[in-house]
Amino acid sequence: MKLDFAPPAYFAVKSIFYRKVRRGYARNATFFVFLEVLMNNFLELSVAELAELLESLELPGYRHAQIRRWVFARKTADFEQMTDLSKSVRTLLSEHFGTILRSKEVSRQQSDDHSQKLLLEWEDGERVECVLLQNDRHHRTACVSVQVGCAMRCSFCASGMDGFVRNLTRGEIVEQLLRLNALLPGNERLTHIVVMGIGEPMLNLDALLSALDEVTSADGLDISVRRVTISTVGIPAGIRKLTESVMHTGKQYKLAVSLHAPNDELRSQIIPHNRGTSIAEILTATDEYFQKTGRRVTFEYTLIESLNDQPEHIVQLAELLRSRTAIVNVIPLNPVPGLKFRSPSGRAVQRFVEQLARRGIQVKVRFRKGDKIAAACGQLRRTAQ
Ligand code: SAH
Repeated sequence: MKLDFAPPAYFAVKSIFYRKVRRGYARNATFFVFLEVLMNNFLELSVAELAELLESLELPGYRHAQIRRWVFARKTADFEQMTDLSKSVRTLLSEHFGTILRSKEVSRQQSDDHSQKLLLEWEDGERVECVLLQNDRHHRTACVSVQVGCAMRCSFCASGMDGFVRNLTRGEIVEQLLRLNALLPGNERLTHIVVMGIGEPMLNLDALLSALDEVTSADGLDISVRRVTISTVGIPAGIRKLTESVMHTGKQYKLAVSLHAPNDELRSQIIPHNRGTSIAEILTATDEYFQKTGRRVTFEYTLIESLNDQPEHIVQLAELLRSRTAIVNVIPLNPVPGLKFRSPSGRAVQRFVEQLARRGIQVKVRFRKGDKIAAACGQLRRTAQ
């Protein structure tokens, strides 16, 4: 562990550390591991924390702005390449922080629809996936993970098949975005973020919101908050916490809820976590999100052959959502090897969508782009082990 901080810097680090402990970020980390991460890891520090630390290193405020411009706008993750900083400042920063990016790129896969999927390995050997999606409307979308593994164990999803390992830190979430942004040529930047990779956002909400706060700021990646979607399995307490945060910060993220079934019996079969809650409870929380933020909630419905695609499911789903200002995103299942579920035919998907629309529900089909490169999320991490 590096302990060569000048005393003021040491106290700044300590105060940052205790603030993080109070906010609960340190819950999963041992004291020393976390202190090490915090002292040396650039992306773990918020704007205010970094300002405090740089000040204690006797670097003037404008240096902070310069460094952020390099990291976020100019896609440079190496202090030595920040040529408008003097050699001594570059050396000071390199000594304290080492490298900015901490993961190793284990593999990069490209598909014919211009999606790219990265498999990243962190310093503890754990791996996650993130994906860059591109379309002809100039959308450059990053899909990021929030946890290593997942505790939700949705029956058709690869992410939870080996259980939950740990939460990602704020810096690890920001790093995925920086790496995906750097895949884009020249000055092109990410335009959208979907939190639809591995893990359950509501179970790592503090780190996620801190990371999103960073990248949506004007001197971060400057991505509009309206173009950021957080997808949850449907944890009412988490949704309420997000609502509070949005009310407090004004950052109106888009909320998507993975519904996948129109009644509790079927939903609990598909999503075991549903047994501890209910569709009614989830809808109460999403109604409140809509009322307080004015943002329509999207309901994701992964369509699985002969399981949740029957005529009675269409009737029940329409009944559930008719009185709500909501959108349904139908996602044909991307089959996961080793799991028994199958994707419905194109005709069956179309029938489901048309009949739902006929009942007054706003509905879209969303094919999971990039799936050709490594199939559904969570699979690359499993197969590349
Ligand atoms: N934990 C969050 C994010 C998960 S991934 C959530 O549950 O929403 C984002 C979406 O992809 C979820 O709706 C998830 O159910 C869906 N998904 C996961 N695996 C899939 C697969 N094999 N085929 C189709 N959709 C899948």
